[in-house]
Amino acid sequence: MVVIRGATTIPEDSKEEIRKAVAELLGQITSCNHILKDEITSIVFSSTSDIHSYYPSKAAREAGFEGVALFSAQEPEIDGSLPLCIRVMLFVEKNLTPRHIYLRGAKILRRDITNIYNVAIDGPAGSGKSTVAKILAADYSILYLDTGAMYRACALAALENGVDVSDERAVIDLMRSVSLDVRYENGIQKTLLNGRDVSDEIRRPEISMAASTVSKHPSVRLHLVDKQREIASVNSCVLDGRDIGTYVLPDAAFKFFLTASPEVRAKRRYDELVAKGHEVDFQALKEEIIRRDEQDSRRKMAPLRRAEDAVVIDTSNMTIDEVVSFIKKTMQEKI
Ligand code: C5P
Repeated sequence: MVVIRGATTIPEDSKEEIRKAVAELLGQITSCNHILKDEITSIVFSSTSDIHSYYPSKAAREAGFEGVALFSAQEPEIDGSLPLCIRVMLFVEKNLTPRHIYLRGAKILRRDITNIYNVAIDGPAGSGKSTVAKILAADYSILYLDTGAMYRACALAALENGVDVSDERAVIDLMRSVSLDVRYENGIQKTLLNGRDVSDEIRRPEISMAASTVSKHPSVRLHLVDKQREIASVNSCVLDGRDIGTYVLPDAAFKFFLTASPEVRAKRRYDELVAKGHEVDFQALKEEIIRRDEQDSRRKMAPLRRAEDAVVIDTSNMTIDEVVSFIKKTMQEKI
């Protein structure tokens, strides 16, 4: 039996806010700890004395926690305690190292785990994520983790080993038999496959779509997400990807979602590839980007999606410097 703890806050005491906050908190606890609803024995909530509108346990029942014993209690009124706060304990029949989840204003309750901070930058291909993430990481002297590189390395491994990228079983078996590592040299990420530096190879245009296909497989995602969380739990970093704010690090301190029109995104990728000496057809590249976004957005597990609490930035008509300054200003205001 393992006990997982968590807490969150609500902006106002209303039934709707309680329902939303409880569903979000339980969703993130289960996803971050890889637990299924029927592995939970019971869930105990306590809420501060300024919450009267609804029982968190009822909200949990409505969020689909049906076969679980649920209980809510109210805490005494204590001077200086965090207002409008809901705390939770989940009792789970599983052998795991618990990951406790503190969301929204409740992050402040765990200063011990918040010295390390993460910046999540999600968005579709060509929205400017990686360029911006690299600059931010360098300016703040923290790591830049390019999570797309991991899916790309996985696709490269499959293609090199004659494994069909759409065959989940074959891809995950291969991934468990190779070593995929991320190393840093002078602050620059190197992606290693069985010790070989594949950082340049994974940028080949044909790898992009194959990476999107391997990234649909839940077992492959879990395998890579574990590595990403491991790195982010011991280092402050800027991570770019598609599901960082929604799935990998739902409790990241800062979340941004970058977008741009397909035309602008295709032009950026085109210029990037041409500069590296690749021969590319603009129209074909644009169509591929649109197809890839569609595939990334439609997949069942952790699709490309903006987290509700992410700040959206349309970079179509912005320079890189403008995007970076805007992000820094937003982070500064939040601190
Ligand atoms: O960002 P990049 O274009 O290198 O990503 C390649 C592919 O990897 C994406 O199209 C997407 O399918 C997948 N990916 C993902 N989740 C991430 C990062 C990338 O599914 N966090």
